[in-house]
Amino acid sequence: MNGVRRESGQVFVPPQAMEALGRAIFVRSGCSPAEAERIARRLTGANLRGHDSHGVIRIPRYAQWAADGTQVPNQTVELLLDQPSFAIIDGRYGFGQTIGEQAIDIGVAKAKAHGVAVTALRNSGHLGRIGDWAERAAARDVVSIHMVNVRGSLLVAPYGAVGRRMGTSPFCAGIPVAGGEPIILDFATSLVAEGKALVAYKGGKPLPAGSLVDADGALTNDPTPLYGTVPPGGYPDPNNGPGALRAFGDHKGSGLNFLMEMMAGALGGSGTAGANDEPKRRRFCNGMFSFYVDVAAFDTDNGFAAEVKSYVDFVKSATPSSPGGQVLVPGEKERATLAERTAGGLPLAEEAWTDIVATARSLGIAEAEIEQAIGGPA
Ligand code: NAD
Repeated sequence: MNGVRRESGQVFVPPQAMEALGRAIFVRSGCSPAEAERIARRLTGANLRGHDSHGVIRIPRYAQWAADGTQVPNQTVELLLDQPSFAIIDGRYGFGQTIGEQAIDIGVAKAKAHGVAVTALRNSGHLGRIGDWAERAAARDVVSIHMVNVRGSLLVAPYGAVGRRMGTSPFCAGIPVAGGEPIILDFATSLVAEGKALVAYKGGKPLPAGSLVDADGALTNDPTPLYGTVPPGGYPDPNNGPGALRAFGDHKGSGLNFLMEMMAGALGGSGTAGANDEPKRRRFCNGMFSFYVDVAAFDTDNGFAAEVKSYVDFVKSATPSSPGGQVLVPGEKERATLAERTAGGLPLAEEAWTDIVATARSLGIAEAEIEQAIGGPA
């Protein structure tokens, strides 16, 4: 596939073109070529796996964050505490795509040496799709569980409330399967991730019913209560609206979200999403509290992979609830989307694509360079 193509009101961008344009944008934003490649590849990778909310739609916001100092290019983590099987890691507001890799590699190395490990990452830039981090650990045959909060991000109303008190705090776990694909469970504890509201706001896939609560307490799938009125040419800011996202699963999802704040925010040292009597929002960052288990240390009978595969088959043999339906295990949907989009390109709403190209232009990237990156006109 060469160049972007338009079909049914969408723009289809070849993954390599998206990565090339992303690289150019992040180099202009002050990232080293290696970091720019990492960010562009991971954001494109999120779209390839169907998580448009944590993909290239974030490029304009990331570029803005690099410009205003919210996220700092080319950072290296600092180990605030370095014990044999646990560590406290300061991400120093670096780009999450860089900081996440470094933090996971620390946790995995400790688990490989001691069987289990725990890491608390604080002050990280946006860590994007958390499944990336579970996949990185699984590739080294390490089970991992990640509890994430978003300090300074008040987007979600707790169960029974209208007012925002929580972020979209994702939970993620990865189970490696020797000789097979890992199981990756990865979801926001809000009914939808904020980026999915952004995608819908930009004309992409509509939200499920009742994803938001408006200022009057009515449930809606209209993303506008999250963003409020966006000035012409302005970028939708989810901090500005009068409504809120809702936690998934009523009191259960709201409770899980609360737990993320306790672990990643309070215990991990990043701080929770917010507090009473604070005149200013807390500085935005992701905190991530992670647990690692080396499969080799526990799998004394060497039966783990076979048991996982057997259970996957058992689950998938359940009769689908709708005719022709499929029973999937965590991570399967993403792999199917990856295969489809690698071949057919990333489907983007026209407005989302226009915003990315406009970001490139605003950073002084010449039209010829844009066209060279994407293999034709935008
Ligand atoms: P989602 O609702 O699409 O759920 C995804 C999970 O459900 C995956 O594990 C997937 O394999 C599984 N799944 C999907 N369909 C399935 C089916 N039919 N049968 C069985 N399993 C199925 O995810 P989401 O809540 O929209 O989250 C999207 C992304 O946003 C995640 O990658 C998350 O890490 C990310 N996120 C990041 C932050 C951050 O601050 N960095 C915040 C919120 C969310």
